[in-house]
Amino acid sequence: MNRSDAERIASLFESLGFAAAADMASSDIAIVVMCSVRQMATDRIFGLEQKIEQARKINSKLKIILTGCVVESDKNNFAEIFDHVLDIKTLSQWPAILAIKFSVGRTHANIMRGSDPRNPRKQGKKLIKDYFAIPPKHSSKFSALIPISKGCDNFCSYCVVPYTRGPLAPRPIKDILNEIKNAVANGAKEIWLLGQNVNNYHHKGYGFADVLRLANDIPGDFWIRFTSPHPKDFNNEAVLAMAQCQKITPYLNLPIQSGDDVILKAMKRPYTVAQYKTLVKKIRTAFKKHRKGIEKEIAISTDVIVGFPSETKAQFQNTAKAFRTIKYDMAYISRYSKRPNTAAALLDDGVPPKEKKRREEILNDIVKTTALNHNKKFIGKIVDVAIESIKNGFAFGKNRHYKTVKLAIKERQIKAGDIAKVKIVKAMPFGLEGQMI
Ligand code: SF4
Repeated sequence: MNRSDAERIASLFESLGFAAAADMASSDIAIVVMCSVRQMATDRIFGLEQKIEQARKINSKLKIILTGCVVESDKNNFAEIFDHVLDIKTLSQWPAILAIKFSVGRTHANIMRGSDPRNPRKQGKKLIKDYFAIPPKHSSKFSALIPISKGCDNFCSYCVVPYTRGPLAPRPIKDILNEIKNAVANGAKEIWLLGQNVNNYHHKGYGFADVLRLANDIPGDFWIRFTSPHPKDFNNEAVLAMAQCQKITPYLNLPIQSGDDVILKAMKRPYTVAQYKTLVKKIRTAFKKHRKGIEKEIAISTDVIVGFPSETKAQFQNTAKAFRTIKYDMAYISRYSKRPNTAAALLDDGVPPKEKKRREEILNDIVKTTALNHNKKFIGKIVDVAIESIKNGFAFGKNRHYKTVKLAIKERQIKAGDIAKVKIVKAMPFGLEGQMI
């Protein structure tokens, strides 16, 4: 979502006459889009202080804005480092806000030149009221990030998102479909539908399954992916739409967060491990029924937190057990860190860092085994690979199952953004190797 925000910010500033600068010191304005989901990400922003000071020594007129997912209680501290801490939801008003607040100088002149030099406030109002209505400047030619909603109503006990992003706010279906059509017309081959709770989409009678089916009906040769769904919001219609709509890739990130029912309850995740497993089975069965060849097997990844307050060794073992039975293709494992204002922040973070690391390593080892077993099924198969980068005679990309594929190439044989037909010759835990055919 932060990358998507950055694309809308880039589009807005381009419309105001700005161009991308090579580095912070040579910029009029630098914008930092932050994430507060983990303490580590917040620490990284504080870690920028030295870099910012150095840039200011070279360019005293530099203005730096912080936006994105910013926890309220961090704002005062950040105000000492950044010139402005602005809410991303007010993006359409930024030209007016900045024109008012910036002292007259190079930056100010640039803003005014790009908007309406006679009346920047008027231009700010004339700009678009809704931040979603600002057309994004997609950073990748191949992949387009399309938010379908923002915010979240769930208040999982460890998560800051409902506090930083606000309640769930879905976009009108027409706007979503128009943005997809534009992206496809501009050459996008992969559409990512985004939302903090993406499958809780509901707007004027349309649900998430409708978004999937209507996106799938848009003419063109492109792939559809989405993130991040909540297990509680996966209804049967969405499962069926996912399996039946052939543009939807056979890959799903389905956060489990814990494999223990007591911890799930403490996390305020309203499902049990048994319900989660039933959902996984339902999804796998639907793909077996509605897809052909290797696409009968859907790749499933998950998000999980280790060392949630009071998580005992036995409760962690339940998570390890769930990992062994579900057999994930990939897992994004986080060591619990206390986030301000959340319900879990009031609990005693009793699991020592060393133990959290140990639990992370155990899950990582399980996933390495299960992922390798899944990946071996690709050997000898011919798959489409969306090329993302080229380096030292190799191309790297993702197949429809979201597996990273590496292939040796001849000079100028292929470029980033192409879809290559590749025969898979080798499987590793977290990647595949192939040859172009
Ligand atoms: S559903 Fe996701 S975004 Fe919403 S509160 Fe829970 S973890 Fe955070």
